[in-house]
Amino acid sequence: MTATIEPTTGSGVPTPTFDSLNPANGDVVGSHPIASPADVDAAVARSREAAGWWGELSFDERAEYLLTWRSVITRRIAQLADLSHRETGKPHGDAQLEIVLAIDHIAWAAKNAKKVLGSHKVSSGLLMANQAATVQYNALGVVGVIGPWNYPVFTPMGSIAYALAAGNTVVFKPSEYTPTVGQWLADTFTEVVGGRAVLQVVTGMGETGNALCVADVDKLAFTGSGATGKKVMAACAQNLTPVVIEAGGKDSLIVDEDADLAKAAEAALWGGMSNAGQTCIGTERVYVHESVFDSFVKEITEQAKGLRAGSDSGAKIGPITMPSQLKVIKSHIDDAIAKGATVVMGGADAVGERFVQPTILTHVPEDSSAITDETFGPTLTINPVSSMDEAVRLTNATSYGLAGAVFSEAKGMDIARRVRAGMTSVNSVIAFAGVPALPFGGVGESGFGRIHGADGLKEFTYAKAITRQKFKPVMMLTSFARDAKLDARVATLITVLHGGKQTLK
Ligand code: NAD
Repeated sequence: MTATIEPTTGSGVPTPTFDSLNPANGDVVGSHPIASPADVDAAVARSREAAGWWGELSFDERAEYLLTWRSVITRRIAQLADLSHRETGKPHGDAQLEIVLAIDHIAWAAKNAKKVLGSHKVSSGLLMANQAATVQYNALGVVGVIGPWNYPVFTPMGSIAYALAAGNTVVFKPSEYTPTVGQWLADTFTEVVGGRAVLQVVTGMGETGNALCVADVDKLAFTGSGATGKKVMAACAQNLTPVVIEAGGKDSLIVDEDADLAKAAEAALWGGMSNAGQTCIGTERVYVHESVFDSFVKEITEQAKGLRAGSDSGAKIGPITMPSQLKVIKSHIDDAIAKGATVVMGGADAVGERFVQPTILTHVPEDSSAITDETFGPTLTINPVSSMDEAVRLTNATSYGLAGAVFSEAKGMDIARRVRAGMTSVNSVIAFAGVPALPFGGVGESGFGRIHGADGLKEFTYAKAITRQKFKPVMMLTSFARDAKLDARVATLITVLHGGKQTLK
């Protein structure tokens, strides 16, 4: 990503632009304007106007548009995957995989919005038996979405598709590393809705993202690092704009003594190394029961043979997309080794100028940065534990709480429930991300709020409660005509209703 200021053809007014680069070779993939605060405000204003149309459509009508978009993306999947491959460096197959998951999410959001958000009756209770009570979930209006580069389709789509299905319009600020992918998504949606500004893109760096935070948006959905998330919250606080924060993680994969070690090793390797380890829900730490530790390390080392980073078709790991991350990855490896970790594969020399070769470290001290901080590279730490209690304790001894995995035949569900994280897969890795009905999000420094599933739809709405009086109440409580006699009857009634021994039926 490089920034330049070039004259705009025709007007002569300098328009700052920036290029997105292919991280594998430095080639320019796309050139985009750096949207100023005025540009962002104008986009939000267009979005608000379009919200009048989009928000008035029925759930079924919106679903039609979203499902058409889903089909357009599906038919052009090779084109989008190629763009993502060039802009992120990830292998073409990996680029396609995240699009496949995103397509499924669009379809789920479109098909389920009415059921989840539409008006439905709730019980009005004995005290208010004369009232009909309904709740529905109304669109907020305009939602700002700020995305990262590591999964430039799947990640923002978790906000975009769900916000749109709920009846909001969206202004999306993609990462400066993947603006062309973001623009492609907005262009194809705009095609489907006949040019209306229902989903727009504003490109640029952090300043453009900040402008979106302070613009006239009704909610801001941010996905990125925790450090930026804090700035986003602070900026949104100015207008009391609510936020969703999807931040980083330090996920662990726990291996119990009764686990299928080959499957657990395969999952740890893919969970840790795919997308060059640049996955918020990627495996960074592995805790293995000491009785199977040596066998597990032998197994994963065996499976990792031949796995390498490069830009040729035989390489299953691509480059590090954001050059500044190379320093972080190296510092984590160096720190772990300096503190006494054992290098099983890769190591200090694994970090090159664009690529990082797979690195596996064992017996990594728990105070190493490779254990405490997000590494975001193709590295794994593998430590032995004496029990699953210890595995859970160490897993939870982090400020993050995004996701994780557990491999155990007998106790998988039990262990999973005790992990303090928003999402856990038992006997597989990252499976929850592909289940559209499941909420996605973290706790602690991994953020808050949920995308995906019913919770993800509700995230982009406000609950609207309505009561409708069906008949005159037996006891008129909301009136100055209420007298001491009525108050006494109310006291008797509440005692009958709630004064008895507590029972759960
Ligand atoms: P980042 O925080 O550097 O940038 C994210 C986005 O924020 C970019 O679009 C950037 O331009 C924008 N931004 C930067 N400064 C801003 C500011 N002051 N105000 C508003 N916006 C600003 O993160 P990244 O490097 O693009 O992404 C990697 C991080 O994202 C990792 O920590 C990863 O774990 C996390 N992530 C989390 C999830 C999740 O769902 N929890 C998913 C993917 C990535």
